[in-house]
Amino acid sequence: HYTHATNFIRNIIEEDRAADSSRQVITRFPPEPNGYLHIGHAKSICLNFGLAADYGGRCHLRLDDTNPEKESVEYAEAIKDAVRWLGFQWGEHLYHASDYYEQLYAWAEALIERGKAFVCSLNAEQMREMRGTLTEPGRESPDRDRPVAENLDLFRRMRAGDFADGAYTLRARIDMASPNMNLRDPVIYRLQRHNHYRTGDAWCIYPMYDYAHPLSDALEGVTYSLCTLEFEDHRPLYDWFLEQLADLLPARPRQIEFARLNLAYTVMSKRKLLELVREGHVQGWDDPRMPTLVGLRRRGFPPAAIRAFCDRIGVGKSDGWIDMGVLEDCVRQELNETAPRAMAVLDPLKVVITSYPEQKREEFDAPNHPQKPEMGTRKVPFCREIYIERSDFMEDPPRKFFRLGPGREVRLRNGYIIRCDEVVKDPVSGEVTELRCSHDPDTLGANPKDGRKVKGTIHWVSARHARKAQVRLYDRLFSVPHPGQGQSDYRQDLNPDSLQLCSALIEPSLAAGQGCFQFERTGYFYTDPVDSRPETPVFNRVVTLRDTWAK
Ligand code: ATP
Ligand code: MG
Ligand code: MG
Repeated sequence: HYTHATNFIRNIIEEDRAADSSRQVITRFPPEPNGYLHIGHAKSICLNFGLAADYGGRCHLRLDDTNPEKESVEYAEAIKDAVRWLGFQWGEHLYHASDYYEQLYAWAEALIERGKAFVCSLNAEQMREMRGTLTEPGRESPDRDRPVAENLDLFRRMRAGDFADGAYTLRARIDMASPNMNLRDPVIYRLQRHNHYRTGDAWCIYPMYDYAHPLSDALEGVTYSLCTLEFEDHRPLYDWFLEQLADLLPARPRQIEFARLNLAYTVMSKRKLLELVREGHVQGWDDPRMPTLVGLRRRGFPPAAIRAFCDRIGVGKSDGWIDMGVLEDCVRQELNETAPRAMAVLDPLKVVITSYPEQKREEFDAPNHPQKPEMGTRKVPFCREIYIERSDFMEDPPRKFFRLGPGREVRLRNGYIIRCDEVVKDPVSGEVTELRCSHDPDTLGANPKDGRKVKGTIHWVSARHARKAQVRLYDRLFSVPHPGQGQSDYRQDLNPDSLQLCSALIEPSLAAGQGCFQFERTGYFYTDPVDSRPETPVFNRVVTLRDTWAK
């Protein structure tokens, strides 16, 4: 459904398949259900599901749920929704790391039996202190040479609940002098009494990510385990577990790291997103200013635009920043094709067409998309009083202002040409309150008979027929590209003007409408799926028509 640029991962796959034509592409997307997915996750989803689809393989959705205190059913369900919404299907391949607890436990016993793991009584602080530094080797735990039988007994009792949280850990027995800190006898199980959203109180020991991940990959027959660059240093550990248990494992997955997506003007760490929600800086995970997929969805970003974005940014091996403008541009491109056009006035100025009879009504046929006749037409009602955008009038306009000014003419979109004859002002404030205009009755769908040129076209709504709507104008959540950089707290970089409300007048066809529209000359707008009501429609601005941030 979209074109894939080649990338280094594809090259690896192509090479593997050239050497072994039976090599399958089995990938997984492994989110932890400890928050909502964001646009960074979309990159990983598109990559993993996209590769699997292209090579006739499959992609598993695996909920990597090994931290009971942070995970919940709510998050797990939201993750499934988001992946589906983005347009990907995992079929019967939905898995949970928690499904493997019994197997992972058995393999941990195997490691103990092989002298490759031991039960350690050091507490977290002692362990940190003995870990050494990049330039100094660590010190070995006094429990490192505990006999196998004793390790097994202690580990079984850890599982049975004989010990308090923190009393013991199970550690891999690798190398305290390794230059790679990840190999300095890392913890692979910890005691943790916490109800798990799936396994309840069945377990009081939980496996660590670095242990659970390679073995879950192997269990599922994953061939390419794609993760972000910060796991590059963990790869030797990933491979170590696979090697130690090679004879017991059904498959040998390969970890490949790629650059994560960093998007300017927003934050993407789940911790920060959770803080924004909890501290009320936004209205929820699905606040349309959030980079979460639920937020972008509620804002009106089409999933096809997000897929196109992931395609456009590509997959590489070095971290960088992508500007929000790139994402917005993909949204514009998609909506330009698909969004029906309509008229809405965000900042209304009343216009009375004095030449038009008071009782007269007309309905104009308006195309829903100027380049796509197949999208049909709609009726737009017209009468003597209309509203136009306040910014489409200037009392003393420069020569190149092709909109309304005293004595000037303009075309009403889908309607007549009108001329401004009189400007009515509030006697006290001097504010323009009304324009009195006359129309040229011969100009409906036709140019003026006398050949005079009228350059500008403006949008409008009929005063009698227009409906009120709340319009939410969203801007970037942060006012700087890299929030938190150069100062202590990213929250100080929040954009105070990221939400602006206005009370708009919309053409009647919009009141019943749902989905995305282009409000002509104004931007793309999406019917808010939560707050909008037929009597009081609410629209979110998805993006402006042009990139107003570009110089
Ligand atoms: P956070 O660090 O914010 O908690 P995470 O990486 O721990 O996020 P996971 O739920 O573990 O979140 O992520 C699931 C998958 O999505 C992982 O394979 C991870 O590499 C990938 N992923 C997460 N963030 C990004 C990103 N910004 N760009 C690309 N891939 C990402
Ligand atoms: Mg995380
Ligand atoms: Mg993670």
